[in-house]
Amino acid sequence: MERISFVAVVDLHLHTSHSDGSLTPSDLVNVCFEKGLQIIAISDHDTTEGIREAQKVAEPLGIEIVPSVELGTRLGESEIHVLGYFINPDDVVFQEMLENYREAREVRAKNIVLQLNATGVPLLWEKVSDLAGFGSIGRPHIAHALIELGYAKDIQEAFQRYLGLGTQGYVPRDLNTPQQAVRVIEENGGIAVIAHPLFTNTKLDRHDIPDLDDLIESLCDEGLKGLEVFYGDYTDGQIKRLLEICRKFQLVPCGGSDYHAIGAQNEVLPGDVGPPMEHFAELKRLSNVV
Ligand code: AMP
Ligand code: ZN
Ligand code: FE
Ligand code: FE
Repeated sequence: MERISFVAVVDLHLHTSHSDGSLTPSDLVNVCFEKGLQIIAISDHDTTEGIREAQKVAEPLGIEIVPSVELGTRLGESEIHVLGYFINPDDVVFQEMLENYREAREVRAKNIVLQLNATGVPLLWEKVSDLAGFGSIGRPHIAHALIELGYAKDIQEAFQRYLGLGTQGYVPRDLNTPQQAVRVIEENGGIAVIAHPLFTNTKLDRHDIPDLDDLIESLCDEGLKGLEVFYGDYTDGQIKRLLEICRKFQLVPCGGSDYHAIGAQNEVLPGDVGPPMEHFAELKRLSNVV
């Protein structure tokens, strides 16, 4: 039988407090070091601000940081996330685009708070803004504020009752298409990879991307290079299916924990899952980074 589970030394999907993760880049790198990881991607939503700090802490520990970013996109009804690996954070045009995305996130978060206030939830914008700090604000910050107020017992319940699609606080985000995201990552010199393409138990708003093969075919034309396979709590069956898709379209199988340090009982931890080193080596070859 084909071996599809490995001891992870590579984790290509991690969030810090610069977006909706709870740990600072330094603390996250230290956790990864304790877990025995050798290569980690700092892949915050719409920001690269955590990368430099992570690199500083990682260097003496012998950990390689892959400069990364995660962009949200929409295609029809589905939200599709695209990861950019080996991106150049010094690209001014790219940074202007990320700043615009972060501003749009802030406008949307304020609208969510207003909408919740209108339905009787006394949530203060200042509280949410404090929790987000200076980083890229997201619904998990609002979820934490709702938990503190006693309106939800955990992040799942906050999404289920107040923040997810079809709830009283749901506000859609203006998003690019996945094609546009792959293009901007390519133009930056990064490597574009589709994130979490299938349903996962640990995040309720995740579904199988419909017509995945067709989407991949169209994204390959834009320069797509990989697909997340060894992801979160994906089952062996899901991993097998995704490996077959990678073979069909010659994509590099990637993956990681998508760790946010939210403290949930079922949270997948850094090092629990990740691609084998050979796939990472392939990804790095494509990037032309030495
Ligand atoms: P946003 O980027 O503001 O649209 O928020 C979406 C983020 O919230 C996703 O990237 C997930 O990491 C997280 N998320 C969504 N649903 C859940 C959930 N049910 N439990 C925990 N985290 C979630
Ligand atoms: Zn996140
Ligand atoms: Fe994501
Ligand atoms: Fe993520």
